[in-house]
Amino acid sequence: MAKKLHVKKGDLVQVNAGKDKGAVGKVIEAFPQEGKVRVEGANILTKHKKPSQAMPQGGIVKTEGKIDVSNVNLYCDTCGKGVRTAVKVDDEGKKVRVCKKCGKVLD
Ligand SMILES: [Zn+2]
Repeated sequence: MAKKLHVKKGDLVQVNAGKDKGAVGKVIEAFPQEGKVRVEGANILTKHKKPSQAMPQGGIVKTEGKIDVSNVNLYCDTCGKGVRTAVKVDDEGKKVRVCKKCGKVLD
């Protein structure tokens, strides 16, 4: 069974550890099975591609590598940084994530 991650595809997050500490980007892809995410602009891996039909010269392709989901926090634009979140039930009975610091709804 897949674990539920505290962030999902499309979330704006801040990286809080590793070489891209402090980077803010969108979650491009989430891997609940592995507990990992790919974040726009974080953990860039450079791959050398052999020449192919699509790329006759070959070349260098940059892609975002997976990072551990525990190394990212949901970004709160009120606080201006990655924050811890709490889950709150809104007026319609829907679960939403809120910033623990300022209470802003982040969903
Ligand atoms: Zn906040």
